[in-house]
Amino acid sequence: MKAVAEYWTDRRKDLLRDERGVIYKVDVAATIALCFPNSYFVGMSNLGFHTAYWHFNLPENVKAERAFYEGDEKPLTLESGRSLDEFSLVGFSINFELDYVNILRMLSLSKIPLLREKRNYSHPLVFIGGIVTFFNIRPLIPFIDFAFIGESEELFEQVNNELVHYAATKGVEKTELLKRLSLIDGIFVPGFSQTVNPRYVDNLDHFECVSRIITPHTEFKNMFLVEISRGCLHKCNFCVSGHVYQRPRFRTLSHIMRSCERGLLLTNRLGFIASAPSDYPSFDELCAYLKSRNAKVSFSSLRVSSITKSVLELLIASGQTSLTLAPETGSERLRKHISKNIDNKCFFDVIQLAKKCGMKRIKLYMLIGLPDETDADLDETVLFIKESAKIMLIRVSVTPFIPKPATPFERYTINDKKIIRKKIAFLRHAFKNDTRVTLTFDGIKAAHQQASLAKGDETILLDEAEKLSSL
Ligand code: SF4
Repeated sequence: MKAVAEYWTDRRKDLLRDERGVIYKVDVAATIALCFPNSYFVGMSNLGFHTAYWHFNLPENVKAERAFYEGDEKPLTLESGRSLDEFSLVGFSINFELDYVNILRMLSLSKIPLLREKRNYSHPLVFIGGIVTFFNIRPLIPFIDFAFIGESEELFEQVNNELVHYAATKGVEKTELLKRLSLIDGIFVPGFSQTVNPRYVDNLDHFECVSRIITPHTEFKNMFLVEISRGCLHKCNFCVSGHVYQRPRFRTLSHIMRSCERGLLLTNRLGFIASAPSDYPSFDELCAYLKSRNAKVSFSSLRVSSITKSVLELLIASGQTSLTLAPETGSERLRKHISKNIDNKCFFDVIQLAKKCGMKRIKLYMLIGLPDETDADLDETVLFIKESAKIMLIRVSVTPFIPKPATPFERYTINDKKIIRKKIAFLRHAFKNDTRVTLTFDGIKAAHQQASLAKGDETILLDEAEKLSSL
């Protein structure tokens, strides 16, 4: 059997061999280990990570290499196989609270002191960016030197300039660098900054947001991803995407088509990323263009009220056999309460239409434990799923509601573990003999951890950090 280290070396080589778009650079003064605190598969499915990789590598004298959390093996960068402590900076793209602890693990495995105050100028500077910076970075503050808050595109140039200057001093001017970074609008530096408001890109057309590396080893296998908008018109009360991006912003159709043309030189598979892609004002024109280019397409999610026959036909022609819908609950009363004003009939009509067009199954996203949920609401969820299953095979993903900061439901709490267990048992029982319905449930312990971290403060990860430091 192969030694673990040998396995990772081979795996790195295999991943690199299958990638198109990887950036190799000669050694320069400012080197960044750009880390995703989850697997390669998850990290390379994230457009924000691609964007950071691209922007940090734009100047000649800054070099960024990627690293991922792949278990208890020392993380090494993909491009050169170097350990994180050999870089002048270590940055993390962070989008999910449960990955916080993986940041600590990656630092610990790299023998980099976890607490900022324990690091000196010989250690890399540690920074973060990503969607969590819009609403709560407090759990990570003791461990980081600085953070990109909000949308980073307009910040990279300035930050890169500072990093080049800093690297030339071999890290000696660390305090000076941090002081200067804290003057940049959108950069938070513990000890130097007070509160920092998230940065937003006013005109999305100024920055293309697309896949920078194509690989078969992601959720979007060999697909070229194109971001079409940010923010969401609907502002459902529980949803972070609906609230942190301020007003919805859309790229122009010509900008998107230019990106698609670049993507089509690499692959015929195009994926469109947005909170609600079908809200795109020129959605029909976009679909017609994609059809004319014979592209195989996929959308990150589709709002049920805008799914038409021609969209379904486009998806089916692209090889998609399953449609994902997010009713969140089967209770119309509760759906209104969360500000998702769509009635059940709209879902059933679309499921019927999807069947007619040739879809084979439907995936439904459901939440349990929403504020003010009653037993009657859960009964209605069961009825809703049963009605849907009369039309087509149904797969249901059930997730406990997690109150998120910056949303109108922020003040609520997650259901007690016992209550969640009871609700899950109720749903399991309701479908135990129903072969047309498959239910999957997110872990209760993980949901509670996520809820604590989402609203956690600077102390919440200190015990974990201590444990890891003494390993
Ligand atoms: S749940 Fe969907 S429709 Fe509602 S705010 Fe979030 S992204 Fe928009």
